[in-house]
Amino acid sequence: MPMPFILDAHQDLAYNMTVYGRDYRLPNAQTRLRDLQAAGGTERRGSLLGLPEYNAANVGLVFGTLFAAPKRRSSPDSAPDEAYDTPSEARRIYWKQLDFYHHLAETQSDSYRLVLTQTELKNHLSLWQSHAQSLKPIGIIPLMEGAEGIVDLDELPRWWERGLRIIGLAWAGNRFCGGTREPGGLTSDGKDLIRAMAEIGFVLDLSHMDEPAALTCLDIYPGKIIASHANAAKLVRGYNTNRLLSDEVIAKLIARGGCIGVAPINSFLDAKWREEGGKEAVSLRMVAEQIDYICQIAGDVRHVGLGTDFDGGLGVEDVPAEIDTIADLPKLFPFLEELGYDSTEIESIASGNFLDLIQSALPA
Ligand SMILES: [Zn+2]
Repeated sequence: MPMPFILDAHQDLAYNMTVYGRDYRLPNAQTRLRDLQAAGGTERRGSLLGLPEYNAANVGLVFGTLFAAPKRRSSPDSAPDEAYDTPSEARRIYWKQLDFYHHLAETQSDSYRLVLTQTELKNHLSLWQSHAQSLKPIGIIPLMEGAEGIVDLDELPRWWERGLRIIGLAWAGNRFCGGTREPGGLTSDGKDLIRAMAEIGFVLDLSHMDEPAALTCLDIYPGKIIASHANAAKLVRGYNTNRLLSDEVIAKLIARGGCIGVAPINSFLDAKWREEGGKEAVSLRMVAEQIDYICQIAGDVRHVGLGTDFDGGLGVEDVPAEIDTIADLPKLFPFLEELGYDSTEIESIASGNFLDLIQSALPA
């Protein structure tokens, strides 16, 4: 089987680079060493990322997030770029992270590209198909994880012009809707926000939204909808939060032509993994089973992809046994073959489905 091109629908790149000073051009081993040397401060999980490792796995395009936590869900002594108290603080951090992606694309263009239009997507994919250079640059499509930073709906066109293409309404709960561990439906502010998003053409990300809010969005949002990093709750042993997707949300998302980024994160695969076997007991086979479960609900392979969230508050300690870095992600594919998926179907899952969706959402 030729190595499929991989699109990763969720990575907190800007957060890691601006808050921890990580430099993902380096081989992963160097990032881990530098993290160890930068002792003190926030505890860092073992990084999974690095440009050589992306290239080894053929991961060439990511949805790169704008992310920060509300202070009530962060450590009280968090750095100013790590957490916010007010919407305008969130806006400042998110805007800085979006600027940072532009800065990377301008000053480190051998390593990073912003992919904001259909033409840029086409060019980026042909670069990855060519043998033009040995280490190819990572393409980034910006995704806002939690809409707190949108203080006023009038700002939305400016976010779009600056390159934001995907918005998730929630991380924790906020004025728009309920979120992870903070339940609630879609508020009237939330309805106003998605109406304004639809007018511009943003993709809506349901990850982290509480189920009633997600179901309302699936009924009323006329644009493209994804879940960038979320698994099927039904398959997760001991699962007891509102973070993952119910069968009803999955079925509606499929009916709406959406795509789900399955995450190879142990707590999204088996909530009892820490007590019962640890990392070694969690296998990429369970990720393949998550993918298969969504395909069985859909009756086809067109609605599922990958959203790793690697380095998003988790590290090598928190992912399946087969994974030491992102270079190991293709070890998933033999498990899909065992479940009966052929190479064309695996290509759809690795990137084809998200590529089709995002291609139709990008401006010309
Ligand atoms: Zn997340």
